[in-house]
Amino acid sequence: MFTGMPPWGWISLATSTILVCWQEFRIFRIGRESKKREELFQIVTENAADMIALVDVKGKRLYNSPAYKRILGYSAADLGETSAFEQIHPDDRFKVLEAAQQARTTGVGQKLEYRIRHRDGSWRVLESVAGTIRDEKGEVTKLVIVNRDITERKHAEERAEHNSFHDTLTGLPNRRLFLERLQNLFNRKQRNPERQYALLFVDLDGFKVFNDTMGPAAGDQVLAEMGRRIGSCLRDEDQVSRTGKDLSTHNAVLSRMGGDEFTILLEDLKDPSDAMRVGQRMLAAISAIFLVEGRELRTSASIGIALSTPAHERAEELLQEAEVAMRRAKALGGSRCEVFDEAMHTRAIGKLKLEAELRHALEKKQFRLHYQAIVNLKTARVEAFEALLRWQHPEQGLISPYKFIAAAEDRGLLVSIGRWAIEQACRQVCEWNAAHDRSDVCIAVNLSARQLADGDFMNGVGAALRSNTIDPACLHFEIAEKVAGGDPRQTARVIANLKKLGVGVILDDFGMGNSSLITLPQFQVDGWKIDRSLIGEMFTDRAAAEVVELIIFLARKLNMTVTAEGIENAKQRDRLCELGCDLGQGFLFSQPLEAEAAGELLRQPLRTQVAAWRH
Ligand code: C2E
Ligand code: MG
Ligand code: MG
Repeated sequence: MFTGMPPWGWISLATSTILVCWQEFRIFRIGRESKKREELFQIVTENAADMIALVDVKGKRLYNSPAYKRILGYSAADLGETSAFEQIHPDDRFKVLEAAQQARTTGVGQKLEYRIRHRDGSWRVLESVAGTIRDEKGEVTKLVIVNRDITERKHAEERAEHNSFHDTLTGLPNRRLFLERLQNLFNRKQRNPERQYALLFVDLDGFKVFNDTMGPAAGDQVLAEMGRRIGSCLRDEDQVSRTGKDLSTHNAVLSRMGGDEFTILLEDLKDPSDAMRVGQRMLAAISAIFLVEGRELRTSASIGIALSTPAHERAEELLQEAEVAMRRAKALGGSRCEVFDEAMHTRAIGKLKLEAELRHALEKKQFRLHYQAIVNLKTARVEAFEALLRWQHPEQGLISPYKFIAAAEDRGLLVSIGRWAIEQACRQVCEWNAAHDRSDVCIAVNLSARQLADGDFMNGVGAALRSNTIDPACLHFEIAEKVAGGDPRQTARVIANLKKLGVGVILDDFGMGNSSLITLPQFQVDGWKIDRSLIGEMFTDRAAAEVVELIIFLARKLNMTVTAEGIENAKQRDRLCELGCDLGQGFLFSQPLEAEAAGELLRQPLRTQVAAWRH
């Protein structure tokens, strides 16, 4: 019966079990009669892990091994009348027929993959090879098919394939797939440039700080949620269909580029303003309240938009432009959309240069501190100095913090610069107190949001205090009201830790942020420093005057020290003195000065002013 056995190479493709079996057969074919071989075939097939089937040339089942039935969820009785062919996936039937035909004519089957229905209705993927069995006349009468269930392997391969093009957190296409699609679109539009497309680059505002503070699990939650929200903006009106988790269609592709960056390709824009409309919708969706670990939080994003033009020579140019526009949106305060233009390009190049230069400046120790006196308005005595950062540029001279501080903060450099500033300021005040036989001169250092979120911040403060043997009460930190309100819980935690050390904390630029009176008590600070714009407008804007009065009144009620910043003339000073403001700072008393010049102010108290304002 088992004539025309296929060569063993054929079977080795499928299974080692059957390979052994086949070698056995060859031995039997040489020395024993067919009955014995039949028995052996049966023993091997009944025990093989692979699925072995015997069918006639019309596909009728003659035999199915126990593994075959078990893997497809059948008992022996169940399978009896079912047609093997009908169980095969309709899309795979043709190739199975073809392979069977080939095996019949050549006697050698091809390795083949096809899907077959499990009893529960699901599809199993099988890898199989077929061999022929001929009768005495040499006619092929039966096919032996050896199948291996490779469903799990196939799924794993599909998952790996999906993951290499998709972001596992959001399920969205990743950078690689996005770039591929951008390139395809670019190629197509090169041939057919009349329809415009746009690239939107979305970057969440302050995500790094959020992630550092709340932890990566909360960060992941936010990213997944934001991915969904951005996707929903595309789905509603831009006819984006959803295939699995892949938000892509003929006219919009949303991807996660990495970190907190998402990109969207909008095809076939009727009007460039459509891209702006989509961007605005995304801003609204992103800024809605979300819940993380039971807390209600809100975030915002900066969105850059680049529109396709015939001038683009490479697909990536569009991506670069959208990123530049996004950075512009961020520089303008975030929570906005900006469309790329040429002026941005020039500015972006300048900014890149600035970042590189800042790193260099840190290495080359080009940062300096200048000190501005803080004066007791009742006694005219200099009680403290505010340490203000400057960049001593080798070619451009002294650079104002306004020109570089945002970039340094944005790139995380302000943490290192800030740490240096704390150490330097402590050393300086230690020196002044010693030189002027005082122990009460204080130093105020400004803090940035990144420093508040820096896990190593308190260690830096402790180290600066220890190495300079200064009374912790002589060190004050100024936290701008806007910075403090960024993550109020974190701010409150840092303030509490500083208080434990005995260090003073002041809310800077007070009256200009958005802290409400209800949230203020959670910051256990020692004082408020009234924003200089309010002082500047005291005599020109009634509302400003009233806010100043109210702040001083409240501070006195709450037993807080109140400092007025930006005092430029005697009129302002006198009015503030009248209102009961404790301390004053401004050009009227002194500009920010180098350490030596500032120290001189301790030697010669501000007699001129005293005479003027003490009637
Ligand atoms: P700020 O902390 O509010 O510092 C006060 C700013 O007001 C200083 O500007 C000071 O020169 C200026 N000012 C003082 N008196 C007057 C006045 O009478 N009239 C006018 N028009 N301005 C006056 P500066 O030094 O340019 O610093 C600007 C800002 O840069 C600071 O505002 C602070 O937010 C930031 N900054 C400075 N140094 C540091 C630092 O070491 N770390 C951090 N994180 N930020 C810093
Ligand atoms: Mg300040
Ligand atoms: Mg200020």
